[in-house]
Amino acid sequence: MMIRNPTPEVKTTHSDVFTMPVRFMPGVGPKRSDVLKRLGIETVADLLYHIPRRYEDRSRFVPIAQAVPDVPQTFRGVVASTGVFRSKRGTLVFQLTVKDDSGTLQALWFNQPYLRTWFTLGQELILYGRPERVGRKFQLYVPDFEVVTHDEQDSLHMGRIVPIYPATSGLHQRAIRALIKSAVDRYAAVAPDTLPPEVRQRYGLLPLAQAIAGIHFPASDEERRQAEERLGFDELFLFQVAVAQKRHRFKTSTGLTHQVEGPLVQSLERALPFTLTRSQRKTVTEIFADLATPRPMHRLLHGDVGSGKTVVAAIAACAAIQGGYQVAFMAPTEILAEQHATTLTKLLAPIGVAPALLIGRLAPEQRQPILAGLSSGKVPLVIGTHALLQETVTFRRLGLIVIDEQHKFGVTQRAALRAKGASPDVLVMTATPIPRTLALTLYGDLDVSALTELPPGRQPVTTVRVATETRPATYALLARAMDQGRQCYVVCPRIGTPKAAPRGQLDLFEPPADDLKAATKVFEYFRDRVFPHHRVGLLHGRLPDDEKERVMRAFTTGQVQLLVATQVIEVGIDVPNATIMLIEQADHFGLAQLHQLRGRVGRGSHESLCVLMSDPATPEATARLDALVATHDGFAIAEQDLKLRGPGEVFGKRQSGEPELRFTALLADPRWLDRARSEAFALVAADPALAQPAHRPLRPALARLLKRPTT
Ligand code: ADP
Ligand code: MG
Repeated sequence: MMIRNPTPEVKTTHSDVFTMPVRFMPGVGPKRSDVLKRLGIETVADLLYHIPRRYEDRSRFVPIAQAVPDVPQTFRGVVASTGVFRSKRGTLVFQLTVKDDSGTLQALWFNQPYLRTWFTLGQELILYGRPERVGRKFQLYVPDFEVVTHDEQDSLHMGRIVPIYPATSGLHQRAIRALIKSAVDRYAAVAPDTLPPEVRQRYGLLPLAQAIAGIHFPASDEERRQAEERLGFDELFLFQVAVAQKRHRFKTSTGLTHQVEGPLVQSLERALPFTLTRSQRKTVTEIFADLATPRPMHRLLHGDVGSGKTVVAAIAACAAIQGGYQVAFMAPTEILAEQHATTLTKLLAPIGVAPALLIGRLAPEQRQPILAGLSSGKVPLVIGTHALLQETVTFRRLGLIVIDEQHKFGVTQRAALRAKGASPDVLVMTATPIPRTLALTLYGDLDVSALTELPPGRQPVTTVRVATETRPATYALLARAMDQGRQCYVVCPRIGTPKAAPRGQLDLFEPPADDLKAATKVFEYFRDRVFPHHRVGLLHGRLPDDEKERVMRAFTTGQVQLLVATQVIEVGIDVPNATIMLIEQADHFGLAQLHQLRGRVGRGSHESLCVLMSDPATPEATARLDALVATHDGFAIAEQDLKLRGPGEVFGKRQSGEPELRFTALLADPRWLDRARSEAFALVAADPALAQPAHRPLRPALARLLKRPTT
């Protein structure tokens, strides 16, 4: 048998850790490398950058007798007894009694009777969980646990701040921790550093090797914070280099030149039933300037709900159409597409422009003439959903693309629509107010226009914060509104009671449910008990798309009077007859989310109300809700939200198709956004192609970030 020995320590050169398969590390065979692959770890660098899910300070354990209820803590004790029993609800419960010098506690797992075979009496365990007081004892539900093995590696797993990694079956915390330790010891020092040294020094960031070691095995919370800062900055900087390059490409490429002054624009402006706000005027001027130059427009139109973006888009469309170009308007859902089609038809039909609507559920005989009209150029304006991206959709002269709620679309989808024309101009719109710094960071490749004022004569939505004990009175208010012909929303923080919340390496259990958080439960309760004489509907993200559309349509047409929903309704829905928005457990939502939800009412001529139902648990939560009661300015709220939550949350959940920013999510201080951006833009301005030797390492790193194969 031939044995290959790759001796990686010797062979490794700078970029190798990024390509070297983990399989070549000592102690990693094909089997373990398969398990690692399931965690997304294929190379040594993947291992070095495998971020802990959390940390446990195991330099000190909490004596069981001093457990604090409802706060996650780490205990150390020995197994005193084990048993399996059946609960009143019929669930099989595995129970473990653990004792230390001070007392005993019980750990419980559900529907996993086989766990019995995992533990033996006298075994020493580390348990992590949130104790709940039951009588005089404490119980831990489905805690994370680790068996203490008393071997030479104990110093890695105990007596220090210990990293806990995202779990996968087939690989214990101890095993992955030991593996990462060995990777850090061997390879952290040769991991390629893409951050220019002067930038690192300017902000006093840790050297890379130290940061990699510190993210996994920090000696203190402070060291960990510095490690997060360094790695977060690296990632954000790289992302901003990509953004700056993209912007540079747009600014230096050639696109269409539109004739912005012309008959169609004039007719539309004359036909408008209102005068544009100052803000709309300014935005139109900015868009026209883009359209009139031979550079492709790449602009974000940013404006709170109801600020009048659609009219601005319509004017831009006319500028393109009067020069013989076609316009495609893409919205994330059929309902939104239909709404836009109705609005645009109302605006444009009087001046002789007939928009077409292209959505998935059209019958072939309805679709065919639209497709033919688009490819012949007869249809000047099409409004649609993802259906526009299909290959069968071709344009004769696509000149302008408008994308509504652009964050709902991935990068590739936007690119696919662009590819249907020859460098068409692009206007993307969003009603999600984002703070300026964040807009620059996320959309720094775009130019930004903002609608900063609402059209005159709007009735502001009255917002109130009420305690949950006022529920009966609030329900009566909803009933009265519905009896007067109005409609209502009730929004809950989640879909159902979590049956399957993965915790640690183990399965799942049904917690004592607070049913009022769950839309499905509230829906049943409302339909059967509270509002049996009204028509109640349910909308949430796990419904199939056609069911979602069906429910929304029923609400739009008034068939459903009361819509129980999760935050899926937060974007774009326009039902002017809906006048009450009741948000259950309002403290479970972020400020910006609450503001978006509130924007669903106050869209018609009736007086509207937003009720924040909550018994806030903390002064911060109270302050957050009161901030919403006090202001209607979406941008002010967004700034406040960023300050309260830090950039982490925003980068934590981004769209598919966009680079995942795991480390950026660790940054707590919004000032890093500006710093990373200005450094990256300065670098790209000086060296757009990253041709200088000092900048070359950025290229493969960028390719990895953008998940494109390296060229
Ligand atoms: P957005 O898309 O930004 O949420 P819309 O474009 O749907 O806002 O406009 C909201 C409402 O305001 C529409 O009914 C529209 O006709 C109206 N509107 C837009 N601009 C003005 C204006 N300048 N004056 C009065 N009403 C306006
Ligand atoms: Mg709109």
